[in-house]
Amino acid sequence: NTNTPRLPSFLKTSIPSGASFSKIKKDLRGLGLHTVCEEARCPNIGDCWGGKEGATPEEGKRAATATIMLMGDTCTRGCRFCSVKTSKAPPPLDPHEPENTAEAISRWGLGYIVMTSVDRDDLADSGAHHFAETIRKTKQKAPQILVEALTGDMGGNLEHVSVVAKSGLDVYAHNVETVEALTPFVRDRRATFRQSLKVLEHAKKEGVRVTKTSIMLGVGESEDQIMDALRELRKVDVDVVTFGQYMRPTKKHMKVERYVEPAEFDRWKQVAEDMGFLYVASGPLVRSSYKAGEYFIENVLR
Ligand code: SF4
Ligand code: SF4
Repeated sequence: NTNTPRLPSFLKTSIPSGASFSKIKKDLRGLGLHTVCEEARCPNIGDCWGGKEGATPEEGKRAATATIMLMGDTCTRGCRFCSVKTSKAPPPLDPHEPENTAEAISRWGLGYIVMTSVDRDDLADSGAHHFAETIRKTKQKAPQILVEALTGDMGGNLEHVSVVAKSGLDVYAHNVETVEALTPFVRDRRATFRQSLKVLEHAKKEGVRVTKTSIMLGVGESEDQIMDALRELRKVDVDVVTFGQYMRPTKKHMKVERYVEPAEFDRWKQVAEDMGFLYVASGPLVRSSYKAGEYFIENVLR
């Protein structure tokens, strides 16, 4: 597509290395866990899994973050930016997943784990109880590991949001992905910006310490629209926001409107911090879980 802008050099990444990274990768083999980090070939894996700079492998591991995917690899939705495969009727849940995942995570011993999942509109509770059970069991086995749940919108059912919010997690994340006006063109038609705000608002009301969301830039949003989105998110007391560049997974997905310059990401970080967000991660390669552990462990949750 000749209308697609060229990939700027700041989006080209190097191969991760470092002692902590290698150690974590070795640990992961044999645990049977599937990380989004590896499967999506996330460019941040060196930063996230490497933990803090200059740390020993053990220290590094405690500050490291990884993201795992629950409830299978097939989603009932079809967002236009996402490369996860789609079906109206994905295979049933694995009843042993909560126990096995908790066991694997506790043996792995990272400092911070993000649990996310495909959307399961085919299940009566959108998978909320399964998700919550996985968190509860993880916390039983490894209370020192901080858990972030990155969930879908549960079809807007707030009771199901409560089930996850009260499972003992540390951070409740749900991504609005884009500004309100572009939501119908970016996310699955069942998702709305307002519904996502309600999910985040409700999680906070249920006593979750930290709520978090993520916005992709470069899909055609205007500055005013971003400002509106940030104001709405602050109104429902969202604590953390991240900004990253949208990257097109394949030619079948929506195109990149524009590559946003690093300086512009820096500016959005400043703007959002000035609006009262507790923490903002913003940069071309930032993804919603980017180095979450390192930040949260040091600044928010301990
Ligand atoms: Fe994994 Fe998220 Fe970090 Fe990427 S940003 S390496 S998916 S934890
Ligand atoms: Fe991808 Fe999530 Fe959308 Fe499913 S709901 S298509 S996993 S972004």
